[in-house]
Amino acid sequence: MTYAEKLKDHRWQECRNKILTRDGFRCVCCGNSNKVQVHHGYYAYDMEPWEYEHDTLWTLCDRCHSGVSYSMRQLKIDIGRMLPSFAAMSIMRQDAVNLSEALNQLYKMTPTSKGWPNE
Ligand SMILES: [Zn+2]
Repeated sequence: MTYAEKLKDHRWQECRNKILTRDGFRCVCCGNSNKVQVHHGYYAYDMEPWEYEHDTLWTLCDRCHSGVSYSMRQLKIDIGRMLPSFAAMSIMRQDAVNLSEALNQLYKMTPTSKGWPNE
């Protein structure tokens, strides 16, 4: 099955609809409701599009999706340049946990299925 075929699979369509509904069919970055797509926060070669944790899937508009994809690609290149020692990765992971906590705080400022927190 090609990736394009997988995106037509009912399991992805159901997953996608859950994320779009959770995010109110609006881009979580800018609030735009035109041309929204569900963005994978990361990819793993052994996972199907519908198997990802829902807190790693995001509704984004076309424009934000392009920007986020570009930024993530650059970030992965930066990570790829780091010395792949276990100690370095452990430190990175701890920092990632701290970053994750910060992002969780930030997420509280993004729209939910109940709408935007400030509304
Ligand atoms: Zn956007």
